[in-house]
Amino acid sequence: MKCIRTCIACRKKANKYDLIRITSDNGEAKFDVSKKENARGLYICNNKECIKKLLKMKNINKVIKNGIKADSLKRLLVEMEDM
Ligand SMILES: [Zn+2]
Repeated sequence: MKCIRTCIACRKKANKYDLIRITSDNGEAKFDVSKKENARGLYICNNKECIKKLLKMKNINKVIKNGIKADSLKRLLVEMEDM
């Protein structure tokens, strides 16, 4: 079974196992390592270009559809940038 998801930063489609999944934990953004949680997640490429792109996005609220707080997502993205 193919699990193709779209990176929210660059809109590239990829297998979900090659993307980083971020889910909402009561509004707080967190990594979904298992990729099996039922909560709707965001997918982003595992590269710094996409992380930077997402951080610079002015309408970041519009790409978040699963209740993650924008501030919380930005904090997580900044952490990812430093990794
Ligand atoms: Zn991407």
